[in-house]
Amino acid sequence: MAPTTAEVVICGAGIAGIATAYHLTRQGVTDVVLVDERPPLSLTSDKSTEGYRNWWPGPGDAMVAAMNRSIDLLEELARESGNVFRMNRRGYLFATADPARARRFVTAAEGAAALGAGRARMHATGSSDYRPAPTDGFEDQPVGADVITEPALIRRHFPYLADDTVAVLHTRRCGWLSGQQLGMHMLERARDKGVRLVAGSVEKIATAGGRVSAVTVSGTTIATPRVVNAAGPLIARVGRMLGIEIPVSCELHAKIAFADTLGAMPREAPMLIWTDPMRVAWTDEESRALASRPDLLEETPPAVHGRPEGGGDSTIVLLLWTYHLDPVEPVFPLTFDPAYTELCIRGMARMVPAFARYAERLPRAVVDGGYYTKTRENRFLAGPLPVEGAYVCGALGGHGLMASSVAGELVASHVTGRPLPPYAPAFTLARYDDPAYRAQLPHWGDSGQL
Ligand SMILES: Cc1cc2nc3c(=O)[nH]c(=O)nc-3n(C[C@H](O)[C@H](O)[C@H](O)COP(=O)(O)OP(=O)(O)OC[C@H]3O[C@@H](n4cnc5c(N)ncnc54)[C@H](O)[C@@H]3O)c2cc1C
Repeated sequence: MAPTTAEVVICGAGIAGIATAYHLTRQGVTDVVLVDERPPLSLTSDKSTEGYRNWWPGPGDAMVAAMNRSIDLLEELARESGNVFRMNRRGYLFATADPARARRFVTAAEGAAALGAGRARMHATGSSDYRPAPTDGFEDQPVGADVITEPALIRRHFPYLADDTVAVLHTRRCGWLSGQQLGMHMLERARDKGVRLVAGSVEKIATAGGRVSAVTVSGTTIATPRVVNAAGPLIARVGRMLGIEIPVSCELHAKIAFADTLGAMPREAPMLIWTDPMRVAWTDEESRALASRPDLLEETPPAVHGRPEGGGDSTIVLLLWTYHLDPVEPVFPLTFDPAYTELCIRGMARMVPAFARYAERLPRAVVDGGYYTKTRENRFLAGPLPVEGAYVCGALGGHGLMASSVAGELVASHVTGRPLPPYAPAFTLARYDDPAYRAQLPHWGDSGQL
């Protein structure tokens, strides 16, 4: 039976809602009801590539500081759980065949170091002390970034990259983990402390005297002074239940997974990202056949990326390449471009030429994905809403797995009144009340999205 009272009701049991519940219990709040109309983690959070990184652009150091804190929390949880969610530290490997971009790698590494991502190391000679990343584990690894511009060194460590690769940028406080295991682990810990998971739909949020008073879940009213909107791609809809406009939009992002039976991607590879815009190398005949899809013939934006998935004798690889970034209305179930598998494979073949062999005979791939729910500047929301007792944890874009720990902790701290870290204001909705901040938005540069 659904409870009739709670200290906090959380709408959404994706990674954001679960992390909020978990961090509330760590801060002593255990009378929490976590509501979802779907099974936990099943809408967006289990569709992720599961990467994490402290590699984020400015302006300011808020994003890097928040991600560093999130990774600290993930590492702490990995240590105390015996690394049940298999966190690794392989890094992200950005590669280019463009000498101008190679120079930008150097600037980016130095800029990231200034923001707190860790030291920039340049490797321009064959005798350089570049240290490769281990396949498993995350302890005792360098942070910051390595820029390698010496061709022989690139070939020695990454022989599978295209021959014309002129530089790689290996960012180090980065890797991936099992998002499902992470989410389930936090959910179990939260439930052990008393959090109740309720299946149902949040239909209404009532207020009395200007503050939250109750949440209606599939016809049952739960009296509560606090609600957290963690509804993922539906946060704007849930925000409207409180009469609040949450300024987010959604982009559809998909990934493919298939058995790399030809061994195109080494199993120990880091996250591989090609940073140059490109045109897919269709033959003349293929180009004629694609006359109805001019979008596939044009130069496509960066950045095709991918990684090996699974340990042991797994051969699975994941590839992604979002070449349409228009905002869309979130609708379910999702549908995907039938050309997506072929495009991802051909795109990755630019970076790792061995993938070209799959273009001749496409493998059977599983395609899935979800919405990146984003603010204009791609910075998440974790804090109070302008109705007393209401909070938001969302707009996590393509970084919700990595940022959910810090976002959940921030929301819990706002609820309990704990001291907030210096980066907290950068993730509140109230940041848009500042005219100087609003004035920056039209000129915001790289948002760090992958
Ligand atoms: C292809 C792809 C690749 C990605 N790669 C990465 C990556 O490498 N690293 C990374 O960190 N992130 C990545 N992400 C992003 C990450 O997956 C998301 O940011 C994150 O999952 C968002 O979590 P969420 O909890 O906000 O939303 P969701 O997981 O969507 O959860 C929201 C929940 O709210 C529930 N809900 C909504 N409305 C209601 C209601 N009225 N009543 C009850 N329940 C409701 C929904 O049922 C849902 O379960 C990727 C995403 C995609 C799509």
